[in-house]
Amino acid sequence: MSEMPYSYDAPVSQALFDRAAAVTPGGVNSPVRAFRAVGGTPRFMVSGSGPYLTDADGREYVDLVCSWGPMILGHSHPEVIAAVQEAVARGTSFGTPGEGEVALAEEIVARVEPVQQVRLVSSGTEATMSAIRLARGFTRRTKVVKFAGCYHGHVDSLLAAAGSGVATFALPDTPGVTGAQAGDTIVLPYNDLEAVHEAFHRHPGEIACVITEASPGNMGVVPPLPGFNQGLKDACAANGALYISDEVMTGFRTSRAGWYGVDGVKPDLMTFGKVMGGGFPAAAFGGRADVMEHLAPAGPVYQAGTLSGNPVATAAGLAQLRLLDDAAYATVNSVSEQIQALVSQALSKEGVAHTLQSASNMFSVFFTDRPVRDYTDARAQDSFRFTAFFHSLLANGVYLPPSSFESWFVSTAHDERALQRIADALPAAARAAAEATA
Ligand code: PLP
Repeated sequence: MSEMPYSYDAPVSQALFDRAAAVTPGGVNSPVRAFRAVGGTPRFMVSGSGPYLTDADGREYVDLVCSWGPMILGHSHPEVIAAVQEAVARGTSFGTPGEGEVALAEEIVARVEPVQQVRLVSSGTEATMSAIRLARGFTRRTKVVKFAGCYHGHVDSLLAAAGSGVATFALPDTPGVTGAQAGDTIVLPYNDLEAVHEAFHRHPGEIACVITEASPGNMGVVPPLPGFNQGLKDACAANGALYISDEVMTGFRTSRAGWYGVDGVKPDLMTFGKVMGGGFPAAAFGGRADVMEHLAPAGPVYQAGTLSGNPVATAAGLAQLRLLDDAAYATVNSVSEQIQALVSQALSKEGVAHTLQSASNMFSVFFTDRPVRDYTDARAQDSFRFTAFFHSLLANGVYLPPSSFESWFVSTAHDERALQRIADALPAAARAAAEATA
């Protein structure tokens, strides 16, 4: 695919991208932002307000990425901005304990029953990395089970791909991860409890934890089949391993208590990020007090962070969480359902095979007519149709995640006007998807 047809007229973004490429690898600070999966010029955004983003060329988009999840109240929510301004005015970092981080921890503990204690960090990656270290320290075991298609940040041992055959040791999924780091990871197909039982059978007394996205959104939205998470929990309990539910994406988004609030399966440890930071770098891991007490300085497992519990980030996160009441979740869920219906109608009208999958208000479109239960299914879709669909929507002012393997995210700010813009842009996008060729 040539890049030019999809560049459209974004000269300021293109100039910024050229400047960026000279000083930053690939011109971006996180790979998916470079539009490599879809081609064309990544839009450099200059401002966000409610459901809209404005790019450097002055074009406005309805935002269906929401910063990859955090902006559940829309951009520049006045109460979140006010809390941030008030915190900034008092100073930006002290490197000491502060009340804001206590209040945020209390809010998390109050919302998510399995979390008895929580430690704040600055990114989802730090949260999962630390949770795994803690699980290994607590159990005094080395091996970690993860699932193909689940993403837990760029933790070395979790950037692992399945080796040949189920339940064999994993291989590094990127240069820079050593065989030893990947070799303690077992990568299994998602939604396959048999594979989990087999792994425990093959490695008695060796598996420290099973980590899973509570409901995966990083291969597109692929919810756990009924009983899958409970089966993981039971298998862990039966074999002395910890069950870690990664709620960095689903936490405080899919309900007040995240995916735990939906399926009620009680993890030993949980990880959070995105929504709880209100658009700032704040994340967390927490769970059973007897496990968390193994963390320094209470216990021997080391973990630390210069900016952990940063007063500005915690003020933003707390303000956002306090606004997220039942009415807010009802609004986000309704917005999500309406957009899903619009997308499905438009694609059906053009005869485009598609499957919409959702987990509460997270959803994504797979260009296939078969249900998607794991990463192999997700990869079997007609991704070239997504590329055409994406660029048509972009050209008409709707900003989707620039990859067919991502969840779409909406907010309480997506109002009638924003939905109408999406509805107006969809027919041409559906036609583009129908006409696309591989
Ligand atoms: N875990 C999940 C489920 C995620 O979706 C992500 C990021 O998208 C992470 C962990 C890593 O979080 P971060 O990008 O803040 O390091």
